[in-house]
Amino acid sequence: MILLNPGPVNLSDRVRKALLNPDLCHREVEFSQLQIRIRQQLLQVYNLPQEDWAAVLLTGSGTAAMEAMVTSLVPRDRKLLVIENGVYGERISKIAKIHGIAYLTLHYSWGDEIKLQELVELLAQNPDISHLSVVHHETTTGRLNNLAQLATICREHQIQLLVDGVSSFGAEELNFEAWGITACAATANKCLHGIPGTAFVIVRRDALPPKDTIPRTLYLDLGTYCQKQDGGGTPYTQSVQSFYALAEALAEFAEAGGWQARHKYYSQLANLVRDGLLAMGIKPLLPPESSSVVLNAYYLPEGINYEEFHDRLKARGYVIYAGQGNLTRSIFRVSTMGAITHADMERFLDVVKNAINR
Ligand SMILES: *Cc1c(COP(=O)(O)O)cnc(C)c1O
Repeated sequence: MILLNPGPVNLSDRVRKALLNPDLCHREVEFSQLQIRIRQQLLQVYNLPQEDWAAVLLTGSGTAAMEAMVTSLVPRDRKLLVIENGVYGERISKIAKIHGIAYLTLHYSWGDEIKLQELVELLAQNPDISHLSVVHHETTTGRLNNLAQLATICREHQIQLLVDGVSSFGAEELNFEAWGITACAATANKCLHGIPGTAFVIVRRDALPPKDTIPRTLYLDLGTYCQKQDGGGTPYTQSVQSFYALAEALAEFAEAGGWQARHKYYSQLANLVRDGLLAMGIKPLLPPESSSVVLNAYYLPEGINYEEFHDRLKARGYVIYAGQGNLTRSIFRVSTMGAITHADMERFLDVVKNAINR
């Protein structure tokens, strides 16, 4: 089965085999070494120096990393601005609300572009905003938000920028130091091609809470994780097999040429699909210049509902992904993350052609 959903992804043989490594206790030195290696590999993805940055590993899905980032890095007496233009931006607001974090939202309809002028005006009216959180690639629609420009505005206003990079980390440009990103939440099982179970936050060390801070959560406190991991340990049981897979996936990633190579590869596959679907009259929701290379949304072909379309494709070996909320009836999504080849996607186009011509 070829998975065209935005994670979990098809694994390479190499990553799958890594799952068969020996059973391991998370209090043993072998685990400690594995964890140290992954933390280094993750910083190397965007060339970040270990003195200034930490990769903090958590057991959970991408949402765990988002929640850990927001709850651990916004101090009690500060205020967060959340920019929403899709499901995941709205999820950040939910996290803030549940944890009683003071926050404001700058809301846009799903898929709409963030208007920078409106952001600047909102910041001028609310000088107490200290942190801004935004999704880099809004997987709801495939829109890639303009992080470079948002980061510039944050820098000018001395606002700390907390990024949901769950579906962009490893495949899109993330210029942590030059842009001035404070932290970025991500996961093993999207653009890095590991398995679900491990999520992480890349964070500037100077943004971590001071040691005597009472955390908002026990399990998701980044300060505790970072301190223990710096000492080679872990506060709680980690997903050991998922660590094995991630270490292998990161080795494979580096050997293949890092994020730039992955970006290029994804963009070839995305263009192949986009051109092929357009030739059948299936139109993309957004123009390529507004989209990530990771996932694109398309209008459903005429005369077929999502369930039927999905089931016909699945019967021929491909899993597409539904739209969320209001978009359920009008779009479908195709992500080309994971160990997928050009030939897989050429065959996908044939399968789509068959499915709509039946
Ligand atoms: C996948 C995803 C998440 C996390 O979803 P999980 O189901 O918790 O893995 C968060 N943000 C974005 C942008 C995503 O694409």
